[in-house]
Amino acid sequence: MASMQTHGVLPTPSNFSVWYAYHSGQNSDLTRTIDVLLSNHCPIDDQALDKLHGKFFRPAVAERALCEKSIRARDTLKTVLDLVDKAQNDADVIGAAIEDISGQFLANVHSLADMIDSLVEETSRIVGRSERLGLDLKQSSDKIDALERSLEDLRREATTDGLTGIANRRYFDMALQTISGDAMNSGDDLSLLLIDIDHFKKVNDTWGHATGDVVIKLVATTLAQSVKGQDCVARYGGEEFAIILPGTPIDAAVRVGENIRTALSRKPYVPRDADDMLCAVTVSIGAACYDPGEPLAQLIQRADAALYEAKKTGRDRVIAA
Ligand code: GH3
Ligand code: MG
Ligand code: MG
Repeated sequence: MASMQTHGVLPTPSNFSVWYAYHSGQNSDLTRTIDVLLSNHCPIDDQALDKLHGKFFRPAVAERALCEKSIRARDTLKTVLDLVDKAQNDADVIGAAIEDISGQFLANVHSLADMIDSLVEETSRIVGRSERLGLDLKQSSDKIDALERSLEDLRREATTDGLTGIANRRYFDMALQTISGDAMNSGDDLSLLLIDIDHFKKVNDTWGHATGDVVIKLVATTLAQSVKGQDCVARYGGEEFAIILPGTPIDAAVRVGENIRTALSRKPYVPRDADDMLCAVTVSIGAACYDPGEPLAQLIQRADAALYEAKKTGRDRVIAA
């Protein structure tokens, strides 16, 4: 509250959410964004606060779109169910007509031609309706296919990092929950790597942000190429990455980290406007093995402490927690 007062932030519920998250450090992206605003002397006015709240607290646009698509899918399914219901009614009608006619047949054999006429008439009416029904069902199933495809696109978009194409932080959080739950059930090992590009600020400062982005993409691609299918590589933050390694004890996780370092050392980047210049990218890596039942925040914190140790002891290395 004191800090809100200092920065002239009104204590509304949404402002409080933003400020509480800022000081508790529970969302590092939010903390970083506000720190940048403050260090650049940007005004923390209503507009800025509303933007922060919108970005970090209101459901993401992709999520809203997902919700709308699900509602549309539900409506389409309801239409299909109605159509199936209609088909059932038609089947009932033809059944009743046949029953009725067979009753009449027994009662009066002379009007057989009339009965057959009415049976043919009823049947052709129903054939016409079921043809229309077939078309309606085909249209509905096409619509469901299209909705399924756009839901899949939205799901991918909501869990993919825009710059690198690998999983984003949201996907990482979900995957870690699921995979650690599986590890608890199966008793298999599970390791986590946190990876941070070394001296990345220097890349940005020397060659500009565009080259910085190229380096981030290069590291992301190298990480993705250095792991197996079941492993999950995600962009954890700006120039930080995380890899979840199911079924992997700590020594094997350290080996994966070493392989990453070797792969990167073979992939220097060429900065823009410096065609003949090759620069090496190095990373520091912290590894930790899941202690079944420990809070996930603690696992991440242990990997982060190991990463910090790797930075402190000279960078370009892997340290196990
Ligand atoms: P260290 O070896 O200690 O990690 O040094 P560092 O320079 O990498 O330090 P730090 O991790 O604090 O720097 C991260 C920098 O990455 C700061 C930020 O401006 C930059 N950054 C974060 N996200 C992006 C991005 O998407 N693109 C670019 N170009 N730069 C980014
Ligand atoms: Mg960093
Ligand atoms: Mg760094």
